[in-house]
Amino acid sequence: MRILITGGAGYIGSHTLLDLLSADHEALVVDNFSNSSPKALDRVRELTNRNFDVAEGDVRDLSSISARIEAFKPEAVIHFAGLKSVGESTEIPLHYYDHNVNGTLALLRAMDAVGCRNIVFSSSATVYGDPEYLPYDEHHRLAPANPYGRSKLFVEEILKDWAATGGKSAVILRYFNPVGAHVSGRIGEDPWGVPNNLVPFVSQVAVGRREKLHVFGNDYDTRDGTGVRDYIHVCDLASAHVAAVSFAANHNGAEVINVGTGIGASVLEVVKAFETAAGKPVPYGIAPRRAGDIAEYYADASKAKRLLGWSAKYTLADMCSSAWKWQSMNPNGYED
Ligand code: NAD
Ligand code: UDP
Repeated sequence: MRILITGGAGYIGSHTLLDLLSADHEALVVDNFSNSSPKALDRVRELTNRNFDVAEGDVRDLSSISARIEAFKPEAVIHFAGLKSVGESTEIPLHYYDHNVNGTLALLRAMDAVGCRNIVFSSSATVYGDPEYLPYDEHHRLAPANPYGRSKLFVEEILKDWAATGGKSAVILRYFNPVGAHVSGRIGEDPWGVPNNLVPFVSQVAVGRREKLHVFGNDYDTRDGTGVRDYIHVCDLASAHVAAVSFAANHNGAEVINVGTGIGASVLEVVKAFETAAGKPVPYGIAPRRAGDIAEYYADASKAKRLLGWSAKYTLADMCSSAWKWQSMNPNGYED
């Protein structure tokens, strides 16, 4: 299939691109490199021995994205491009709505103009908000607690309306917590500045870039008092996209699908697994709870199995060992 990948140079996009090329799809990447490096794409070329086109551009720019789509004539789009920091979204919410919502609107208009009928969209478990029950299934109440989560929910609704106009397919993937890296250690997560997320922070402590991890709260009502999340290997997430794009091509309408493992791990369990993977201690201290954090959540991933025939195969140990391989081979990310 000919697939346009917005945000294809980013963390999840680059791993998905690699899987799509390995499955013989043709790809065009559109990325403005606001949160990624073109080097990630060079490394995907090197790992797959396959070439693909890259267009530097912003998905919000209707004339530019239309021209790209007109020339490439994709049969499907995988839409990763967007902003993703919960904290930042509370400071510059309009910026988040602009990139995430207006970006999607421009993309859908450009797709409509050439009759491209299939899209896979990166949503997030953040749309659920405080759990009424666990595991979250796709029918759980939606109550995102910040502008980032609301931007994802608004796009989900837009995609449902778009798909309802007939002959179109939108697969909305609600990711849980993507971590880890490709087994080669050549591509991985490369956050700019101080990492917000647990595994990149732990990796930077282990490699000596930061002194210690701050564990945000050890007084939650969880098995060891620290927050519990459903961590999913980025390579499992990538293969879910390959399955989703085939599903989209063969179905009409919108489907919302959780992409997680169904298993929760606490902050201290992640630290322990990482210490084992890296063969060294990860110093940490207990800090106050982080505002807005939920104690515990994890996915009911049975719909992904039923509809896509997909389930996660990697363990927390695999996630930590691949994250450590990437971090130790590339202590400064793509900057080297
Ligand atoms: P990322 O920042 O690594 O990748 C996003 C890519 O999109 C980057 O390459 C960035 O340069 C590009 N981009 C951003 N705005 C753009 C624009 N307006 N036009 C063109 N390119 C643009 O993030 P990621 O972790 O790979 O996440 C990909 C998607 O998955 C995002 O939509 C994110 O919200 C969603 N998501 C991520 C997580 C996570 O924890 N990583 C969890 C749930 C959902
Ligand atoms: N966390 C932590 N220290 C950090 C970063 C995260 O203790 O430096 C905790 C956080 O409170 C949560 C878990 O790790 O319980 C996962 O946080 P992350 O930011 O990675 O994901 P999210 O909160 O978006 O699920």
